[in-house]
Amino acid sequence: MNILILGSGGREHTFAWKLAQSNKLSKLFVAPGNAGTAEIAINVPIGVNDFEAIKKLVLKENIELVLVGPEDPLVNGIHDFFLKDNLLNKVAVIGPEKLAATLEGSKEFAKEFMMRHQIPTAQYKSFTSDTVSQGFRFLEELNPPYVLKADGLAAGKGVVILNDLNEAKIELKAMLVDKKFGSASATVVIEEFLDGIELSVFVLTDGDSYKVLPTAKDYKRIGEGDTGLNTGGMGAISPVPFASKGFMDKIEHRIVKPTVEGLKKDNMPYKGFIFIGLIKVGEDPKVIEYNVRMGDPETEVVLPRIKNDLVELLQAVANEKLSEVELQLDERTATTVMTVSGGYPGSYEKGKVIKGIESIEDSLVFHAGTAIKNGKVVTNGGRVMAITSFGSDFKSALSKSYQNVEKLSFEGMNYRKDLGFDL
Ligand code: ATP
Repeated sequence: MNILILGSGGREHTFAWKLAQSNKLSKLFVAPGNAGTAEIAINVPIGVNDFEAIKKLVLKENIELVLVGPEDPLVNGIHDFFLKDNLLNKVAVIGPEKLAATLEGSKEFAKEFMMRHQIPTAQYKSFTSDTVSQGFRFLEELNPPYVLKADGLAAGKGVVILNDLNEAKIELKAMLVDKKFGSASATVVIEEFLDGIELSVFVLTDGDSYKVLPTAKDYKRIGEGDTGLNTGGMGAISPVPFASKGFMDKIEHRIVKPTVEGLKKDNMPYKGFIFIGLIKVGEDPKVIEYNVRMGDPETEVVLPRIKNDLVELLQAVANEKLSEVELQLDERTATTVMTVSGGYPGSYEKGKVIKGIESIEDSLVFHAGTAIKNGKVVTNGGRVMAITSFGSDFKSALSKSYQNVEKLSFEGMNYRKDLGFDL
């Protein structure tokens, strides 16, 4: 079967790497892809939101399955676009329709969903520019720290956590009245601060049955000890050591099952990945957020631990036969360390030649922001390349990742040296 992956990050290179191992795959396309996907697939210079061009490519190349990497095209309705054009009898789209994608596109929508289906999450209220003063009063009722969330997509920057009540009020006004995050902050969700340790759970569903994929923990901040600015993610570890069988049972019964059943009850057909961001508060899991796609860099540790043929898994999702598949996992720990451009997540230069890729041994190399220029692999984004390794525990896996990261070099290269510090 011919398959198209949409996206250009480490997540998409990992998907391509995994799909390429299947003998059910004929041709693999990635739009737009990166230097890593170019080695194992056909890169096509089409943007992920150019639905007309994607449709043309799908029809021309007899593509039967489109796997959507990032959230943007889902929130913009790519699934519905194929549905409307009656193309879904020819091609399956892995990724939810626009309404279900709103679980990621609107935090208020996600909170209402969780309330409706009794899924544990932080208490909250939402406000608009007409209700700023009620927002101030709600803040006064809460204990610090104060968690303010722009309702819409804000490139991972829309959540602000403040210790001071006055600063929280100023921030609320900036978001609602001064439109700090544009239309994304026309509504703001204020919620109770949850004190605990975070982890992510990934679910693959055909809309009826589901599989809980390996857990992962990612490291978002640029600086050691989880300090400094937020990034797209500096590395990840799977499985999460503190996610015991008992804790995972709670997650499945209190969160995963009601989520999949809630989608069905609310008439939101869902074929694809659900990424559930959680906090372990005491011994109880609570949902921080839903994403309607896989995470990056979590994919770089989750997929390598899945032994199943990914084409078969995705076909089962498309044909609503996921219940017939048995998930097989690699019990070892996988870790990934992301190398990033100097200056990232602030401004950075591109086009730096990446050296040492060929000397990496016993680890997987997943390209993120890379391109080929004059026959050389060069940097082409903030997050550049992820090095994934296996080990009997996260420490041995990480030490392998770090040994190999040290063989890589490009001008300004940076990476976190303390992954797993909190485990
Ligand atoms: P992402 O970039 O992961 O998509 P986002 O912008 O969609 O994030 P959230 O995941 O909702 O926003 O929140 C970002 C981060 O803020 C979380 O990873 C968590 O560290 C922190 N956070 C969010 N909500 C809470 C809460 N209620 N209590 C404590 N910390 C929280």
